[in-house]
Amino acid sequence: MTARAEQKERPQAAEVSNREIVDHWFDVAADRIGLHDDARVVLRSSYREVAVQIPVRQADGRIHCYSGFRVQHNGARGPYKGGVRYHPDVDLDEVRALAALMTWKTALVDVPFGGAKGGIDCTPSELTMDELQQVTRSFIDKISKVIGPQRDIPAPDVNTNAQVMAWMMDEYGKLHGHSPAIVTGKPISLGGSQGRQAATGRGVVFCLREAAPLLDLRPDGMRMVIQGFGNVGGWAGCIAQGLGAKVIGASDAYGAIHHEAGIDADALAEHVRHGGRLPDFPGVDVITPEELLALECEVLVPAALGGMIHAGNAHTINARMIIEGANSPTTPKADDVLADKGVLVVPDALANAGGVIVSYFEWVQNLQHLAWDEREVNDRLGTRMRKAFRTVHQRSQETGESLRVASYALAIQRVAEAARDRGYLADAPGR
Ligand code: GLU
Repeated sequence: MTARAEQKERPQAAEVSNREIVDHWFDVAADRIGLHDDARVVLRSSYREVAVQIPVRQADGRIHCYSGFRVQHNGARGPYKGGVRYHPDVDLDEVRALAALMTWKTALVDVPFGGAKGGIDCTPSELTMDELQQVTRSFIDKISKVIGPQRDIPAPDVNTNAQVMAWMMDEYGKLHGHSPAIVTGKPISLGGSQGRQAATGRGVVFCLREAAPLLDLRPDGMRMVIQGFGNVGGWAGCIAQGLGAKVIGASDAYGAIHHEAGIDADALAEHVRHGGRLPDFPGVDVITPEELLALECEVLVPAALGGMIHAGNAHTINARMIIEGANSPTTPKADDVLADKGVLVVPDALANAGGVIVSYFEWVQNLQHLAWDEREVNDRLGTRMRKAFRTVHQRSQETGESLRVASYALAIQRVAEAARDRGYLADAPGR
């Protein structure tokens, strides 16, 4: 699968920014746990925000200047960690929000990292490989002083992949010597981890397996709809199909498809890997993205961009549960509508944490100069995902909070505790 399927065009996106979504849930959870005002000030803003200029000479000889960002939100629990996305809509505010979400995600699944995010406002599909490489190397040169294997460790995100990570590692190595632990999501040949590419999708399926019994469902025979059949959605579909689930609908940036009897997810992933667009896949009906969201199914996996499920379309959703493969796919208003409809929502910080969990495994392997086999990686991933899911579910049962509010509350508590123990905060909730 290429990252290409996750690129631009969002015909149904809401006018609510990722920033508003993340800030909203932070405030709700902070109220729930009685977080002190001084802690709110620190945890609501970023530790460091770097904005750089990336001039690139294009094929026609002209210089185009892209903007690149690296935001380090909070490092109380360990080195900053988070992906770098390449997308024309990237701006500082979005990267800020996504960095904060990484802080909560790493805390929630208990990997010893803080939260960061990076982005460049380019459209990779419009760049040659040479230009993409130039953009990537220039970005790393410019942020090299604030990243490092014990400082801040980038990874793939929307429209970036193992190749981009390889260029990043190489560029950083020119300045600091060979340092595989500077990025995760690398090719296996350069110290990447077995299982990293599939990890986010696999994590989505671990959540599906945990959530299904709560609704008296089983993966076997479950109808699944995937919005964004890219690296996350594609792997989730293939792995769930291996458990007997049936992918009845899917979409990419070019359109949506439906086949009630089931679309072969492996064949669809193969089609995408060879550059195919979803609407060109044989034997399916082409439908609109709105129709895709409204398909009757047991599980809907939004795995595209933020804000795709919003007040304008949440009422059309016909799924029993939503597992958020993407970051911030659901707006707060949509969340309310879904709660009223009784749809179980497994939130992003939990549902898509498989990627950063295996990034952590990759970093550990790099620091120890050893390599685990895929089975070991997947087993360890499963153990961590199950533990995180059960902890969140337990809190939600005890407090009556949604899984999302319970996730934020647990994560904020852990980060506040670490910050307090370092001497940065006067008090932490629950002490
Ligand atoms: N970009 C992924 C995420 O949003 C992975 C981050 C990482 O592995 O550091 O979780």
